[in-house]
Amino acid sequence: MRPSILNPLFASISSLKGVGPGLEKTLSHFLATSGEDKASKARIIDLLFHLPSGFLDRRRRYMVRDLPDKGIVTLEVTIGRHKPPPPQNRRIPYRIECFDTTGRITLVYFHSFAHHLNRLLPEGESRFISGHIDWYQGEPQIVHPDHVLNAEDFSRMPLLEPVYPLTQGLTLKILGKTIRASLERLPAVPEWHTPDTLQKWSWEGFSPALRSIHQPSDIEEAKVDAPARQRLALDELLANQLALLLVRRHMTRARGRSLRGSGELRKEIVAKLPFRLTTSQEEAVATILHDMAAPERMVRLLQGDVGSGKTVVALLALATAVEAGAQGVIMAPTELLSRQHLATLSVMTAGTGIRIDILTGREKGSERQNVLHRIGSGESDIVIGTHALFQESVEFKDLALTIIDEQHRFGVHQRLALQQKAGTATDMLVMTATPIPRTLSLTLYGDMDVSCLTQKPAGRQSIDTRIISVERLDELVEGMGRALAQGQRAYWVCPLIEESEKLDKAAAEARLAFLSGYFPGRVEIIHGRMKSTQKDEIMRRFQAGETSVLVSTTVIEVGVDVPQATIMVIENAERFGLAQLHQLRGRVGRGEAKSSCILLYAPPLTVTAKARLEIIRETDDGFLIAEEDLRLRGAGEALGTRQSGLPQFRLADLSMHADLLPLARDEAQAILERDPLLKSRRGEALRLLLYLFERDEAARLLAAG
Ligand code: ADP
Ligand code: MG
Repeated sequence: MRPSILNPLFASISSLKGVGPGLEKTLSHFLATSGEDKASKARIIDLLFHLPSGFLDRRRRYMVRDLPDKGIVTLEVTIGRHKPPPPQNRRIPYRIECFDTTGRITLVYFHSFAHHLNRLLPEGESRFISGHIDWYQGEPQIVHPDHVLNAEDFSRMPLLEPVYPLTQGLTLKILGKTIRASLERLPAVPEWHTPDTLQKWSWEGFSPALRSIHQPSDIEEAKVDAPARQRLALDELLANQLALLLVRRHMTRARGRSLRGSGELRKEIVAKLPFRLTTSQEEAVATILHDMAAPERMVRLLQGDVGSGKTVVALLALATAVEAGAQGVIMAPTELLSRQHLATLSVMTAGTGIRIDILTGREKGSERQNVLHRIGSGESDIVIGTHALFQESVEFKDLALTIIDEQHRFGVHQRLALQQKAGTATDMLVMTATPIPRTLSLTLYGDMDVSCLTQKPAGRQSIDTRIISVERLDELVEGMGRALAQGQRAYWVCPLIEESEKLDKAAAEARLAFLSGYFPGRVEIIHGRMKSTQKDEIMRRFQAGETSVLVSTTVIEVGVDVPQATIMVIENAERFGLAQLHQLRGRVGRGEAKSSCILLYAPPLTVTAKARLEIIRETDDGFLIAEEDLRLRGAGEALGTRQSGLPQFRLADLSMHADLLPLARDEAQAILERDPLLKSRRGEALRLLLYLFERDEAARLLAAG
């Protein structure tokens, strides 16, 4: 249970004064999109963790005589005469003369109502005004001042006014006010850092730190490298690392079993492969077999770029489980990938006697019963499936190895849930094609041991990558026509338009119509809203060459293998994350023919956008691309973390705070060594930290002991 001291933070924002259903809806949608769940309602903590992107500095007070040429100014004036526009002419603004002891300044309002302005600025009274200074025929004026306040309200106004990222229908004024109100709900929480740490970094407590980021008394306090920002970043990273270590401990505590194969099936499979394993693959297999043979449970990640050959490594591990007389399962995120695994593994195991079954949402009725029966009786050696596999209680005769493929769609939560569903403590191998910068892999995979496939299989052709303006579309399509006439195939990816699946689809459909004009009957579209059977059929036709061009809205299923596909066109490539572009490009270059990837952009390109696309053109090394992506994000390119494939944090910005990561890791390790169940006083505070950053599952593992 979440400690009650945190309840005010997790209360709905509708409990704040001034937040009605309309604002609640806007805020929920806006704040939740940066988190996980669009449907959920925003809570106070979501507001508090929505940090300012900058500040308007209203601290400098001016006399009229000393007003600068431009910028934001704040001054105290006496209100003079109101000069309303002539009644018939609404285009002329309403002007109000104001003055101090040194001169005169005019406030200008367009389309405003006299009674409102009379109330706001009563003649003869004194007011504080803040806004952008303007000069008109040598006279100073402010058009629509940001603030007009009496002395009392002015004394309460933050002169460093935070600027927040906004969304449609949300003004800075409203959001600022709402966040100020939520700051009042911040409880005093016990400290989870040691006095030494606090002193060394000159840190204040969690709540004061958060307050000073929203309401700094000085601009220095608000910078990303300011102590308060560092503290909050470390808090979040520490929560993350503690949670991962707790999960790891939980997963590895369950004793595994020592699985040793005879090596015979493995030898048979390897002998029949049409290629030689790379050294990387051999090393990965050796490590995995070593883990399996050990009595401890294996919890290992196999990281390898698209096309690095993870599937065969998985198969050799599975074969070893089978040699040992047990069963293995491999899970893919989609139906399509499951079927593809079935096809590949069936070919690679042909003649070995290994029995493979598939279980997805598609298998129904008596067919499903038969599969379930074979799994239960041990007639299936290897089971392939989507995670529907664990939605019901599938009884294995003797499951010893679980492999999860393309894991970037599974988070640590899912891994945990999966292992609980699976029930037995099987060895676990997770495979991912998302290259994460080495520095960051701790944050995502800190609960696992990691192996990497660093080499590409020999004989891979490099992919010719070009950056082309969409203005040359016709030229491109004509060139494509020549390749298609020779039996080659093309993927055509349309841009991801955030927040609107409908628009995505419309853009893709327009493209379909355009391309069909060139290649009648040979173009099809595939998108996320289709049923999986429909998608499979479209993929099948593309694979079989019945169609030549596959237009897709968002992402072509990761891992799909069509060797004849040699052209990848990505529209509005500048809108994709680098990791995503790299993954998409990995869909081609899988066969004999020379492949190309066309990055189409809509001019003009920003300097950073150009630099990003050039990285993709220059290198095919997923890790390097991931590192560069991170570096450029640091340079200020605001792309969603979701798109970049980087882990998502709310307060830590990995392009700025990556150096805090090893610190968080060491600290988390030291903490759990000294106080494994977080029972000490500091331990209690650390539990609070886990709940604060919503690592509830990890905190519950503690309760379970
Ligand atoms: P991924 O790591 O993306 O899952 P796959 O396992 O699908 O990659 O392998 C991509 C392709 O490379 C497959 O067609 C596979 O047969 C082939 N392949 C795997 N290992 C090698 C190798 N050592 N030499 C040549 N081709 C290989
Ligand atoms: Mg794969």
